Formats: sequence, C-alpha cells, structure tokens
Amino acid sequence: MGRQFKARCNQCQTEFDVREGGGFSFYLLHCDTCGEEKVIGSEEIKAKINDQNPALAKSEKIETIEAIAGACENGYYRFSAKARCPKCHSDDYSPAVDANGQVRMTFYD
Ligand SMILES: [Zn+2]
Ligand SMILES: [Zn+2]
Repeated sequence: MGRQFKARCNQCQTEFDVREGGGFSFYLLHCDTCGEEKVIGSEEIKAKINDQNPALAKSEKIETIEAIAGACENGYYRFSAKARCPKCHSDDYSPAVDANGQVRMTFYD
C-alpha cells in the first residue's frame, strides 16, 4: 500500500505532493538525483520477470525492477530514493499541515 501527502520543502517552502510506496497494481520508484517519480505496472514487471526466472529472490526482484525502470536524465530510479522538491530538488521536507494542524494524508492500493 502506498500513501500520498502534501509536503512542504524545508529549504524553499514549496508545497508539493509526495507519493511513497507502490500500490496493488504498480510499483513506484523515485530518481535518486532529482526525485522524479516513475510508475511501472506490475503486469509489465511480472511479464518480464517470469520470462527470466520465476523464483527470483526479493533483492534480485528489486534489482530487476530498478533495471527495468532504468535511468532518469541525471540519476537512476530506485525504490530507496525519496521524493524531492520540484523546485530546489532537496529531499529535506516535512508533511504540510492545513489550517487545523492536520496532515492531509491519503492511502491507496
Ligand atoms: Zn532524475
Ligand atoms: Zn525546495
């Protein structure tokens, strides 16, 4: 299950949407340099992985998915990479709160 929330950059105060984690039907990765989001359908992964080896270990599966996700302009899409501020590309952000002090967090699958 993944989650989405409004974040505020601690460097330049820009607010932006952050999505973390994949869903039931897709994997979500971020570029390790600019934080660009990459979504890959699990059907696409399944088709490619089953062709290679149906008994892949989890770490190998992650490597394979990252290899399929490929490269961004300046970096590589990784599961471990965080989202980044679209303006200054900092990964230093906090969940933004609304007027009631609540974090607007939604979950999806
Ligand atoms: Zn990038
Ligand atoms: Zn920023």
